[in-house]
Amino acid sequence: MNDNPEIRRAADWVRSADGIVIAAGAGMSVDSGLPDFRGTGGLWTSLLPAGMTEWDVGSLTQGECFIDKPVDAWRFYGRALQVCRQVAPHAGYAMLRRWAERASRGAFVFTSNVDGHFQAAGFDEARIVECHGTINFMQCAEPCSDAIWVSGSVMDGVDIDTLTPSDLPRCQHCGRLARPNFLMFDDTSWIGTRTSLQWERLRTWLGTVAKPVVIELGAGTVVLSVRMFSESVRGALIRINLSECAVVGDGVGIRGSALQILSAIDEVMRKA
Ligand SMILES: [Zn+2]
Repeated sequence: MNDNPEIRRAADWVRSADGIVIAAGAGMSVDSGLPDFRGTGGLWTSLLPAGMTEWDVGSLTQGECFIDKPVDAWRFYGRALQVCRQVAPHAGYAMLRRWAERASRGAFVFTSNVDGHFQAAGFDEARIVECHGTINFMQCAEPCSDAIWVSGSVMDGVDIDTLTPSDLPRCQHCGRLARPNFLMFDDTSWIGTRTSLQWERLRTWLGTVAKPVVIELGAGTVVLSVRMFSESVRGALIRINLSECAVVGDGVGIRGSALQILSAIDEVMRKA
């Protein structure tokens, strides 16, 4: 793999950049064994709560699901929260952290994943944009205010299969239902203030970087948030994707999984 000229080119760019922009889509989390927690993708089959089928998942990706079906929604996302905490981030995160230490301006993460795994892998909370929010913060489902709060031990040790309405997390302010602070489809209730602040920090940081490189990992083509962002950064783009890895302009597309290609680049970096 490291004889591949594209891998060597990518390693050269990472080595010579003063700032590393990490743009992660669902493919980054999939390599740790996590499904896309906004409900798409097939990995849920083995994780679905009892009596729930893949067919049920569709309605649970809509913004109104916590109001319409609170117990079903919390069974599904409560399981997601439990799985997120149980699963460790794969080795690719540590590789990215090592590369970031070499760059004078360090790294900034832009992720559409809501699992909080960049924080879990030791990335600085102040250097992360979670463009679709996170499962690690809660908000009111109504919502009664713009308040959000850390999920903490929500759903820890709860038996998802026997969940009842009295087990559901409550808003700290009005006592009505709480939900995770991530963006679903047609979601008019999501509170995006935390994400807006993250965006501001990213823009400030980008202004301090003279020669950025963008490493885009497993970003899909259905929801384009991550691809649109990575193409907006002036700097070489390394697009790592299992299928659609074409790049227009200054960049290289490498076909493969996030972990597989990060490992190949890391091998080249270590030999240099
Ligand atoms: Zn409330």
